[in-house]
Amino acid sequence: MNINISYRLAAMLVAGLVASAGAFAADATSQPASASAPATMPRILVLATGGTISGTADPRSAIGYNSGNVKGQELVRGVPGIEKLASIDAEQISNVGSQDMNDKIWFQLARRIQEAFDKNEADGIVITHGTDTIEETAFFLQNVLRSNKPVVLVGSMRPGGTTSADGPNNLYEAVEVAASAQARGRGVMVVMNDQIHAPRWITKTNTTAVQAFASPNAGVIGYVDPASVRFVAQVPQAPREVLSLPADAPLPRVDIVYAHANMDGRQIDHAIADGAKGIVIAGEGDGDASKEALAALDRAVKKGIVVVRSTRVVSGFVNRNVEVDDDKRGFVVSLDLNPQKARVLTQLLIANGVTDAGKVQQAFSGTW
Ligand code: ASP
Repeated sequence: MNINISYRLAAMLVAGLVASAGAFAADATSQPASASAPATMPRILVLATGGTISGTADPRSAIGYNSGNVKGQELVRGVPGIEKLASIDAEQISNVGSQDMNDKIWFQLARRIQEAFDKNEADGIVITHGTDTIEETAFFLQNVLRSNKPVVLVGSMRPGGTTSADGPNNLYEAVEVAASAQARGRGVMVVMNDQIHAPRWITKTNTTAVQAFASPNAGVIGYVDPASVRFVAQVPQAPREVLSLPADAPLPRVDIVYAHANMDGRQIDHAIADGAKGIVIAGEGDGDASKEALAALDRAVKKGIVVVRSTRVVSGFVNRNVEVDDDKRGFVVSLDLNPQKARVLTQLLIANGVTDAGKVQQAFSGTW
């Protein structure tokens, strides 16, 4: 194996130590996945959450499969050669399709990761996750974790048992990245299909293809194959000095409203009436919306709701004051953050008491 493993000596986690993690997980179970791994290896903790990577299907078809059938320990054991990369332990945090990912699981994940790093239980973390919302979980974690140790999220597009299932190779490469010396200090990343992506930039761009992810505004931050881990760019970091994990889930309610031709302001007025603390408009083009929609957003600002203009377009930036007078209206622009990630950042800012439009804008711009 041509990866540079130079972590300090580390013993395998014993079952009793890991069992204490049960307090953080709904159905946490744990056991060493590679009992014979030498003690010189990096210690990787796999946190399984479900998704297609944990799914099984009829070998002839990926249609009608259940995500979340296979538990984390089995996933690890099913990957040939993975035990040569690291000393691996696995815990089950949840077992959901990521369309059902929620604040409760996010908080469990964040707390377990922080604990594992604070207590020096692991040198890196791998999170197995559904691909639908993997970008949101990665972005959330990057904003709340207080560590730069590698946290690698990974999924698959094809469930286990199907022809050319991509899960085993993706999981192998995720562990390879998390265990590599090159990944140290880079924090949260996503590995899919031989590519390494940053949380801020990655987005799902295909519903079914194995090459489903891209980072349209910046490109990948690295590449991985069974023989090498190569980084070609830095991971943009989050404004940690301002954000922290709130005491409890759920996060404040922030609604996303999707803009379209012939749009009136009713969905926005509903969001206001339903108690949203923030509204992200998935605008047309560079974050535009109809006059009626903008007037409804003005009503939201007057009620103290944080309004963020993002875009339904997959690449590019939403800049301030181009076709919309953001300064006058009190809006924030999301720049390169897509609506789903703009929502997460807005939730975290509100939860941390940051609601002033100027300060929210600074967080989006990364200029605290
Ligand atoms: N719906 C699945 C999920 O996000 C899709 C996948 O994992 O690829 O959990």
